[in-house]
Order: sequence, then C-alpha cells, then structure tokens
Amino acid sequence: MPKYHIWTIGCQMNKAESEALNIRFAQLGYETTDIADEADVIILNSCVVRESAENRVVNKLKALRVWKKAHPGVKLALTGCLVGANVAQLQKSFPHVDHFFRAGETPKWLDGEKIQAIAAVPDKVAVPCTYVSIIQGCNNFCSYCIVPFRRGRERSRPMTDIVCEVRELARRGVREVTLLGQNVNSYGHDLAKGGYLSDLLKELNGIDDLYRIRFLTNHPKDLSDSLIDAMASLNKVCENINLPVQAGDNDILKLMRRDHTVEQYRELVGQLRNRVKGLALSTDIIVGFPGETEVQFENTMKLLKELRFDMVHVAAYSPRAGTASARELDDDVPAEEKKRRLDDVEALQAKIKTELNASLLGQEVEVLVEEKKDDKWKGRTRTDKLVFLNADDDLIGHLVHVTIEKTGPWSLQGKMNKRGV
Ligand code: SAH
Ligand code: SF4
Repeated sequence: MPKYHIWTIGCQMNKAESEALNIRFAQLGYETTDIADEADVIILNSCVVRESAENRVVNKLKALRVWKKAHPGVKLALTGCLVGANVAQLQKSFPHVDHFFRAGETPKWLDGEKIQAIAAVPDKVAVPCTYVSIIQGCNNFCSYCIVPFRRGRERSRPMTDIVCEVRELARRGVREVTLLGQNVNSYGHDLAKGGYLSDLLKELNGIDDLYRIRFLTNHPKDLSDSLIDAMASLNKVCENINLPVQAGDNDILKLMRRDHTVEQYRELVGQLRNRVKGLALSTDIIVGFPGETEVQFENTMKLLKELRFDMVHVAAYSPRAGTASARELDDDVPAEEKKRRLDDVEALQAKIKTELNASLLGQEVEVLVEEKKDDKWKGRTRTDKLVFLNADDDLIGHLVHVTIEKTGPWSLQGKMNKRGV
C-alpha cells in the first residue's frame, strides 16, 4: 500500500482541509504515516497569517531540499495559504517541490478516481467531532490580513452539499460539527438558490444522531438578527460564539479597517448575551498594531475586563507584505513592547478564566466525550470548556451529565452522574 504524510500548521481551516485530504487518500488506497521517511507522498499544509508561521514553512521547505535529493522518488506537494493564485515565484524558489495546489482544492494529480468524497471512507473512521468547511475565502480587507490575498474571494458551498455531508458524517458516528469559514456570517450571499447561515443551521438541526453544531468565525459587522434567533431557538446549536474584536480602541479599529466601533461591538455582545442563555464568548486580539499607544492598549485591556470573554486568542502584530497596513503604516511598536502587551493580555485572561470556571464548581454540565487521555475521559461542554472525568464504561461519542468537582483556568474535572444518549 502506498503511504502519505501530511504536515499541517495553522488554523482550524487548514486542519479541516488536511482532513479532507485524508479522506481523498483513503479513497485512493493510501495509508497514512507519521514518518516522513516512509512516505511516497508528502504534503505540507502551510500557514502565513503571521511571519513566524511563514518562516516555519519556509524552513521546512529548505530542509526538504536536501532530503529530496536523497529521496528523488517521493512526491512533494505544497498547499495552504502560502500558495496564492500565481505559483511561478514559488516554483522558482522551491524547485524541489513537485506540486503546488491552493487551499481547499483537490489536486489534479490526486483526482484519479471520481468517487464522491466520504463515500469510500470506511465506516469506523468517524470521530465524535469534526470540522466542515462551508465558505472559502474572504471579501473583507482588514488592513493587516493576508488571508484574502491567499485564499481569494468568498465562495459558499451549496447548502444541499453541506447537509448531505453532515448527514453522512452523523451516520458514521460524528456527533458534533464545527462549520468553518473566515466569515461564516456571509455564508450564502453568493448562492443562486439563497439560504443563509441561519437557514443552514435550521437544516442541520434536524439531522438525527447529530448532537451539537458550532461555527467559526463571525465578523461582528455582519452578525445578523436571524443568526441570534437561530442560536437562541435551535437546541443543537451550542451557546458558543467566536466574535473577533481585534482591539478595544476606535482609532486602532479604524486603522485596522474593521468597519465596527467598540460601542457597536459592546451593543452586539449585549444583545447576544440577552437572547442566548449561558452564552460563551471568545474573541481574537492583535496587540502592538502600528501606532498603538499605551493608552490605546489600555483601552483593549479595559474592554477585556468589562466583557470577560471565555477565551481570548491574542497575537502580536506581524506585518505581512502586500497588506495595506504593511504598505502604509510603520511597524513602530518594539518587539519587546509587543511581547509585554501580549503577556499582559494572557495574564489578565488567565485570571478571568479562573474566575469564570470557578463559578461552575458543583454545577452539572453536559459533556460530549471525545477521547481517553491518561486514564481519563476527555470531552467538552456546549460552551467549549474542557472536562476530564473518570468512568469505567466506554464513553466516546456519548453525552454525559457531569458534576464539576475541580476547576482551573484551562480545564475542569468532574464525576459522571448520568449517561445520556
Ligand atoms: N477571519 C477571522 C480570522 C482570520 S486570521 C477574523 O476575521 O477574525 C486569525 C487571526 O489571526 C485574526 O483574528 C487575527 O487576530 C490574527 N491575525 C491576522 N493577521 C495578523 C497579523 N498580520 N498579525 C498578527 N495577527 C494577525
Ligand atoms: Fe482576515 Fe479580516 Fe477576512 Fe478575517 S475578516 S480573514 S481578519 S480580512
């Protein structure tokens, strides 16, 4: 059996696309291997959102140049966000790479047999939770962001395709899906037949054997009333949303070209929290954006203290060639200052998370069990909190009711009261 090896870095989107490649390879009779030396095909799935990620990919590619000389028969392919519309420059820089294909595409040289994705996957491969991509690309041009340049404009997948795929996944044992897109709020606007995210959620909510639905990421400027209604009324849609704010200062938001103010964001969070009971809210923050003063950074800290997010993904600003901010603004916050701001956000957030989690002590939560880790079952609540528990039965893929006995900033521990479905 031929073997393949995939190396993935980056966001959930990249992970989902590597998953799709796994399915494709399985259909073609390939076996996966963790050992690159054993592989007949190696795929690098790249991320370039920050310079550090791009450097990791480039270093890996450089290392493979020597390696390829010793293994000339191995096919080497590059995908992900490093591959834009034009690959001529990449071909020149990395002549030892045999194939380049864009994120989310099925490479032509792998397209031998025209079988429906998923159809040939063995029945037992399903895991309880998986990602499903619903919209590719992005039509926003946040001034710092390289993603629209690499992934192109928005393209929604037809609703019937997504519903069919999720129904099939559920039949094979998947109990939770996370719908993915750079901005899932714009899902459907480009589809001739229409259908928006709230309509898609309604359809998916009706699928038997699927217990939970999540989605990421939501741009605050596009969050619709109908989506809030869908979250409030559909039982399988988890009370959990990622709503990146990026900064807590209006002047910085303007320079970021985010098209929303702090006041509008606050108002939106108020509406969501009013209408979706027990909502868990996560966000993304960039610190050290060009020109960000101490006062402007403090405004971000104030917003974090005020809104008390369940989760904050924080990154230090990294100028990306070709973006508006890299062209027009000076990257003038020193690296050590960016690091100090990043550490401050992380320390504040650890404190907030410790307090939020502590409030769950003694409460009963519903956990979907994903795997066994070091003798303990590991799963997540509907609000995406990690829970560990002891139990003798095989719980993978089951919903269990757990009383929380111990809490910390990153996870909870508890005992099972009742096994659900
Ligand atoms: N579409 C999503 C996220 C895309 S990129 C959104 O709109 O939020 C994921 C995260 O990486 C962003 O939310 C942002 O916080 C961070 N990011 C993107 N470009 C960056 C850059 N140039 N420097 C630092 N962080 C960046
Ligand atoms: Fe990048 Fe903004 Fe699009 Fe997100 S919404 S992918 S941050 S341009």
